[in-house]
Amino acid sequence: MQSSERIDNYYTASRNDHSTYPALVGDHSVDIVIVGAGFTGIATAVELSERGYKVSVVEAHRVGWGATGRNGGQVTGSLSGDAAIEKQLHNMVGTDAKELMHLLRWHGHDIIKQRVERYSIQCDLQYGHLNTAYRESDIPDLQMAMTAAQDAGLSEHVSWLDKGQVQEKLATPLYHGGVLNNYNMHLHSLNLCLGEAAAACSLGATIYEQSPVSGIQAPANATGKVRVKTAAGSISANTVIVAGNAYHRLFQRQLKGLVFPAILGNLTTAPLGKELARKIIPDNLAVYDSRMVLDYYRLTADHRLMFGGGTNYSGRDINNVASALRPGLEATFPDLKGVEIDYAWTGTAGIVVNRIPALGVIGNNVYFAQGYSGHGIASSHIMAEIMADAISGTQERFDVFSKLKHVRLAMGPRAGSALIALGMAYYQLKDRFK
Ligand SMILES: Cc1cc2nc3c(=O)[nH]c(=O)nc-3n(C[C@H](O)[C@H](O)[C@H](O)COP(=O)(O)OP(=O)(O)OC[C@H]3O[C@@H](n4cnc5c(N)ncnc54)[C@H](O)[C@@H]3O)c2cc1C
Repeated sequence: MQSSERIDNYYTASRNDHSTYPALVGDHSVDIVIVGAGFTGIATAVELSERGYKVSVVEAHRVGWGATGRNGGQVTGSLSGDAAIEKQLHNMVGTDAKELMHLLRWHGHDIIKQRVERYSIQCDLQYGHLNTAYRESDIPDLQMAMTAAQDAGLSEHVSWLDKGQVQEKLATPLYHGGVLNNYNMHLHSLNLCLGEAAAACSLGATIYEQSPVSGIQAPANATGKVRVKTAAGSISANTVIVAGNAYHRLFQRQLKGLVFPAILGNLTTAPLGKELARKIIPDNLAVYDSRMVLDYYRLTADHRLMFGGGTNYSGRDINNVASALRPGLEATFPDLKGVEIDYAWTGTAGIVVNRIPALGVIGNNVYFAQGYSGHGIASSHIMAEIMADAISGTQERFDVFSKLKHVRLAMGPRAGSALIALGMAYYQLKDRFK
């Protein structure tokens, strides 16, 4: 059985805020209840509390227990499903598609930056990112993405580095070039989420932890109340937002085949010391490579290397994450051969087959947002703003994004993630023989 405490990982060990919130007991009533306290739930709670709504968040474990407290901490402007989204948006809104794509790629950065400033959230926020070409044949696609970012007004932030220039930024022989992006960021993901949770509470929101939601009763018509139930309590509200992403099993019939769990691994080394840390990544950039099953890494504030990769997509936990990731880490940084690994863990990301984030309404007054396909730090903040706008009466962007079509597979989470595993294994094999 899964513990209701956070897992023992780098983020948990280095969190700033050790507050806990009570379990839900008894019957309550608010304007909006949110199920799940990762970025989707907490960022939406901030948005709605700022607009004056009375909000409660109900979390099965602890704030940031899920992917939010386990990820690589890279805030990137790329979406996994760029091409699919752009095509559909163009068919729906014509030339406005460009503006909406820009919003999806970059607006999450602005929300996070402003929030960190407004609420003085200490989350080790750093700028600078390198998307590297693992193979020479990956260069044209990366350069195309760079040109798109430049055309979107980011020319002063984005530039191409050739092989030699990449080697000045990273002590690795691996790459053939890369896109340097100083608009992208990296940060301590759990501390951002905990800071946002404290901000929501300072605006009047209530958070309940260790309170798995067992059922949600939607009303028969739009003016009725929703009711969210846990073992020891309930909350009635005008609206509920389901923000459990890959970890929830609510509304299985309506959401079937939309999002599949993908297990990803992540680790942090022991502290390397400032000198070695600066030797391997002198400018403190976050990095991910151009493969379909990619490695992603960065330094932490206390000079560890955080290194993650797509090592297992089968829906089962990785037996030994450290030994699965070590070969990739050592191939990337020969200087770190034999390095001690202090924390290794897995997390579950929500994958949508055509990689378009899933946003919508199920029945009366029940909203959901999930499935950011490994790019959720920025996207969850954008979806939070769009949902809060819709609830407070500005419907346009919600209507557009909720109408984007997803590829649904007629199968449950286990079979779906096994299929994703098969696809990922195929790409790993292909990469090996290229
Ligand atoms: C290893 C890993 C690395 C990643 N790296 C990056 C990265 O570098 N950059 C990036 O942008 N994205 C990354 N991601 C993806 C990103 O972390 C997620 O997209 C994002 O955190 C999703 O937030 P969320 O709130 O939607 O879901 P989660 O953070 O998973 O939160 C869902 C919450 O809902 C709760 N819940 C579920 N069911 C119930 C219920 N019935 N009742 C009450 N609560 C419930 C869960 O306990 C959980 O706390 C990574 C993901 C993983 C797993």
